[in-house]
Amino acid sequence: MTIQDSIQQIEQQIAGRAALVAVTKTKPVAMLQAAYDAGCRRFGENRVQEMADKQPQLPADVRWHQIGHLQTNKVKYIAPFVSLIESVDSLKLLEEINRQARKNDRVIDCLLQVYIADEETKFGLLPDEVIDLVQSPALDELTNIRIVGLMGIATNTNDEGQIRQEFKSLKQLFDALKSVERPNVTLSELSMGMSSDYLIAIDEGSTMVRVGSAIFGSRNS
Ligand SMILES: *Cc1c(COP(=O)(O)O)cnc(C)c1O
Repeated sequence: MTIQDSIQQIEQQIAGRAALVAVTKTKPVAMLQAAYDAGCRRFGENRVQEMADKQPQLPADVRWHQIGHLQTNKVKYIAPFVSLIESVDSLKLLEEINRQARKNDRVIDCLLQVYIADEETKFGLLPDEVIDLVQSPALDELTNIRIVGLMGIATNTNDEGQIRQEFKSLKQLFDALKSVERPNVTLSELSMGMSSDYLIAIDEGSTMVRVGSAIFGSRNS
């Protein structure tokens, strides 16, 4: 299938229930342009340098999502243009995003990455840490960020039941925190689902799926 066919198929399956973020890490700019021409406006990258290199080569209305672990010393490279940082896993990182956003005279939207998988390699906050962070008085100072939702990665397994359960637990946390009222916290986005599990994720209430290999083919690495 071409990139265009894959995107059309996925958009039909999603049927407006969630936004599609095309995960473009390791893929050349020509492929991103093909996805753009097929209507994609949200691209997800996991390396700061790669995103910063690609961004000027694509049209200005692309919304760039940082989806990979973000080190505080790299925030400055994407702060001028990034649309959503999906992988926030500490107050310290939020403070640096706030500092860099202010320098650029912007407000940067963020998702808190929640650890839901049964694997040791995935980054993220534990549910209790998410609750603490969302209620932390220190957030009041951070007027150049907004926490707009949660993100999670399910375990890489063929056990559909387990994946569904992990998504359910994230949705429950999301619903529990929706009532939190703070100036810079409004939980409206729930980013869950990748190539292998986005249909389950949508079933379980995802508002945003991050799909790479199902659009662009497998990655070498
Ligand atoms: C790579 C990546 C994806 C996309 O994975 P695919 O299986 O290729 O769809 C989604 N989310 C994150 C955080 C990723 O790093």
